[in-house]
Amino acid sequence: MVSRRAFNFGLASAAATAALPNSALAQAQYRGPNVIVVRFGGGVRRRETIDASESYAPYFLHRMAPRGVLIPGVVIDQMEGGNTSHAEGTLNILTGRYEGYRDAGSKFLDDRLEPTEPTLFEYFREAFDVPSHQALLINGEDRQQEEFFTYGVHGHYGIDYRSEMLSLHRFKLYKFARILEEGGLDEQARLQAEQAYQELLNADRRAIQPEQSAPVTRFWEGWRRDYGDTGFKNPRGDRLLTALSLRAMAELRPRLLMINYQDPDYVHWGNASHYTRAIAVIDEGLERLVRFTDTDEFYAGNTVFVVVPDCGRDANGLIDLPFQHHFNTRSAREIFALVMGPGIARGRVMDRAVDQTAIAPTIAAIMGMKAARAEGDVLSGLGA
Ligand SMILES: [Zn+2]
Repeated sequence: MVSRRAFNFGLASAAATAALPNSALAQAQYRGPNVIVVRFGGGVRRRETIDASESYAPYFLHRMAPRGVLIPGVVIDQMEGGNTSHAEGTLNILTGRYEGYRDAGSKFLDDRLEPTEPTLFEYFREAFDVPSHQALLINGEDRQQEEFFTYGVHGHYGIDYRSEMLSLHRFKLYKFARILEEGGLDEQARLQAEQAYQELLNADRRAIQPEQSAPVTRFWEGWRRDYGDTGFKNPRGDRLLTALSLRAMAELRPRLLMINYQDPDYVHWGNASHYTRAIAVIDEGLERLVRFTDTDEFYAGNTVFVVVPDCGRDANGLIDLPFQHHFNTRSAREIFALVMGPGIARGRVMDRAVDQTAIAPTIAAIMGMKAARAEGDVLSGLGA
């Protein structure tokens, strides 16, 4: 439950950091760059993103890539029985391993994976004295399976080092808890609110333990003040993820932020324009994020972007439903990455094949820590 004490503080995030319990004393202050990981997700192929003649992501390709190292040859390994998909690819990115996950054990909800290996968030919060709201995951509204990514079940890491998550699901949990707390509802409205709240809790059994931090509760308080309870006024889809990210950067100052864009996946229903339009929306989001980062005092000159897809998509245009990705096909395993920011070379193109599992240990190296359980290599050749 959201508690009253969440409303008792009016502190800046720096002051909240200072108020952490003493268990953090052994940890170092984090002095490395901020890192923003953008999952160019929902499965995108190289062709519609980094191929100049076909790209629907002009900002990414023509404005961002020249500022960093573009790696056009990132691949997902062809695992025996592997599934090239969203949760799997995202956990490859976060753990630096293939198949570092297991079914989260839900019988009635499909496609729920939880990491069995530590994620970047856990490595980060174990290594440095960083509060949970500054290791932040931004998720889409209809992918509750990704609510499981804030921490894994690896014995040494886990919940103590979890990140926090912002999603519409989380907002609704906050909203209904507050509505029930505020009272004043007639009996029918109260029952409806209770039912809605219970359904949210049931869909997300791990995520509320422990409750979200006071700074995140305060974030939702402001969001609700601005957008109200109807759900009709806030942006939707991947534009919502951009809005949540920009607001979080301004208010919560995350040092490690991952944004899980997803809307290109609407192409599963067969309409190619859903796919290309969604790529353009992510591209607009990237432009807004980079512009904010370039001008904000906290982030300017001290922030590394890492952009990488969860998976690609099939290239066979002759089948009835093109643009799928579940079958381990070559173009579903062919993705890319961009690393951009201080200390990173500008305008370089890395001309070798790189595994998706190299992303996590490379981010860890950029942040001055080690992803001890990662299997991928730390990428060389990024330095300016
Ligand atoms: Zn999909």
